Amino acid sequence: MRVFDSHIHMTSRTTDDYERMAAAGVRAVVEPAFWLGQPRTNPGSFADYFDALVGWEPFRASQFGIHHHATIALNPKEANDPRCRPVLDLLPRYLDKDGVVAVGEVGYDAMTPEEDEVFAAQLALALEHDLPALVHTPHRDKERGVERSLAVVAESGIDPARVTLDHLNEVTVARARDAGVWLGFSIYPDTKMSPPRMVEILRRYGLERVLVNSAADWGRSDPLLTVYTGEAMLAGGFTDDDVDRVLWRNPVEFYGQSGRLTLPETEAHGEQTGGTTRQATFAGNSILRGGS
Ligand SMILES: [Zn+2]
Repeated sequence: MRVFDSHIHMTSRTTDDYERMAAAGVRAVVEPAFWLGQPRTNPGSFADYFDALVGWEPFRASQFGIHHHATIALNPKEANDPRCRPVLDLLPRYLDKDGVVAVGEVGYDAMTPEEDEVFAAQLALALEHDLPALVHTPHRDKERGVERSLAVVAESGIDPARVTLDHLNEVTVARARDAGVWLGFSIYPDTKMSPPRMVEILRRYGLERVLVNSAADWGRSDPLLTVYTGEAMLAGGFTDDDVDRVLWRNPVEFYGQSGRLTLPETEAHGEQTGGTTRQATFAGNSILRGGS
């Protein structure tokens, strides 16, 4: 099984996680910029974080043969803090970088007017930079959050085929599918979506435009839940090819729209081979080697 985790916050994970992921078949990841728990008080701490997402973290992943990509945005929660608003001015510089495969996570947290404004501004940036967009749907009042997100997406003029609505569930999947966006599902250990529930959704709605991710971060989460979902699919009668479609070819197709995936040619398409890994370069390389 080869796995592309389309949404995982490696910043908050250890090297043990990278090791377990690589051993279980995870060969590529997308790490969206998000809220770090502790509120940030100035744009400078975002710049350092974004630099880590396009520099240090791809280097760290490459040590385990994992291809790391990022999405960059001002997250919905911190969109409410006026001290963070100037982050919008930093974004164009990062959205031009290799390895940045979408604008995200954008969307709603508490659905405030500030979030409206920042969400719309960032969809405009996605259009301007010709990038897909990763939209986080709120954990509270999800139905209304999905409805409002779809309205903002429609209003922005971005092609729905270049948008993923993430953290969907049984209640919101049909509405999102009808709107033509990609359907993201985050699998968690004991809340929200589980592997058996995911298998049921795949049975009912099919495999097209579906992305399954672990969304692992510093909360209770598990970076192998993508793999466990693949195993649950096989146990539930899906084929190896079905699993490869959901866990590899679908994320390659969605994020491939950026033209910036750093996968070896053999893995960028249909073939399932061992593949070779391209080593990410990191400016701090020699310094870090000296220190470890
Ligand atoms: Zn996330």
